[in-house]
Amino acid sequence: MSTGSGLDSRPIIRPDRDLRFAHEEHPLEALMSRFDYAAERLHLDPGLYKVLRNPEHQVIVSVPVLLDSGETEVYTGYRVIYNSSRGPGKGGIRFRPDVTLDEVTALAAWMTWKCAVVNIPFGGAKGGVVCDPSTMSVGELERLTRRYTSGIIDKLGPDSDVPAPDVNTNERIMAWIMDTYSMHKRHTVNAVVTGKPITMGGSLGRREATGRGCMIVTRAALSRLGIPLQGARAVVQGFGNVGSIAAQMMHEQGMSIHAVSDHTGGIINEKGLDVTGVMAWLKEHRVLEGYPNADSISNEDLMELECDVLVPAALEHVITMKNAERIKARVICEGANGPTSARADKILDAKGVFVIPDILANAGGVTVSYFEWVQDRGGYFWDEDTVNERLEKIMERSFHEVCTMAEQHGVSLRIASYMLAIERVAAVHRLRGMYA
Ligand code: GLU
Repeated sequence: MSTGSGLDSRPIIRPDRDLRFAHEEHPLEALMSRFDYAAERLHLDPGLYKVLRNPEHQVIVSVPVLLDSGETEVYTGYRVIYNSSRGPGKGGIRFRPDVTLDEVTALAAWMTWKCAVVNIPFGGAKGGVVCDPSTMSVGELERLTRRYTSGIIDKLGPDSDVPAPDVNTNERIMAWIMDTYSMHKRHTVNAVVTGKPITMGGSLGRREATGRGCMIVTRAALSRLGIPLQGARAVVQGFGNVGSIAAQMMHEQGMSIHAVSDHTGGIINEKGLDVTGVMAWLKEHRVLEGYPNADSISNEDLMELECDVLVPAALEHVITMKNAERIKARVICEGANGPTSARADKILDAKGVFVIPDILANAGGVTVSYFEWVQDRGGYFWDEDTVNERLEKIMERSFHEVCTMAEQHGVSLRIASYMLAIERVAAVHRLRGMYA
């Protein structure tokens, strides 16, 4: 296959590359090993392979912040635009003490493939600041956010890079980013970030979108496998914004939510949890621990429960070589980014588990971010039913496209989703050619 753009055609994809060599605990390696495998299956032009395996821009900024104590602290911030061939960079910003450039780069690549799988006109980006927001006051957090924004401001813009919330960032932080950017531009630019408060250009349905997307693809998977939706048993690991909404929506569809967990541990009820009661408990106590109408279970044991659907919706790498063999779910819906290691993929495949991969399963969030950006740019806002209907259409279509790709090439849904995404990005590179 030629790009027609003068890219190097020497084969650089090593024939001995195998998922067995993937470093299990490293997100960048895990991601890249899947990328490599999918690229080989696509017989991707070696020049294009090199282009797509490298980030376009990596920005590192020092973020000095005046603390409430009067001292100055300097934080490190990153923003990576991995690929912008299909549209502006898109992806969240996380505030975490252990954020690294490697992690942000991996997540920016992830966003590239995620946006391409659901075929929305964005590239992929991600940002991070090395800090611990739990130890910071609101004022410190605001100063940090504004200074970080001004550090990366040349990259930002509705046409170039559009951030969103991610781990430890929220609507309020998006409002500060939008304001900082707008003050620099001397006019209000609400399309520069998504996941904003509704009153300032946010979209209805954005907060629930990732969990709703998980429910939509799970429903499609059960129907494909001939498993009745009514009474299908689900286990949800992680009860934050994604897990709790996914559980609620699956319950509304008639599924039985067997067990759920958060960082304090899990709760289980053989007859199905009263999800409304669990949500009410959580609102009051903020943690699941102590919920009265259920037995407790550890997070580790919860992963190995017999069920129709397992939704890992918290951290990376919770399904690894250590427990993959003991997973008993028929379907796994990856609400989190990267919950399954590359090595565990092989074990799950061999067991015949139907894995709905993260870049498809949790793409509902960025899809409604896209709707938000469209609404901001048009200055015309949709009602919630319109948002949800359009989300449903995109998620269902993408699910079927990934299944068709998997059947055509005899590969897992994970590899099929990468193949679909890579092919979409590669097609644009071929058409655009290379600017020399
Ligand atoms: N941080 C979310 C994700 O990983 C949302 C990104 C966005 O809406 O741009 O998909």
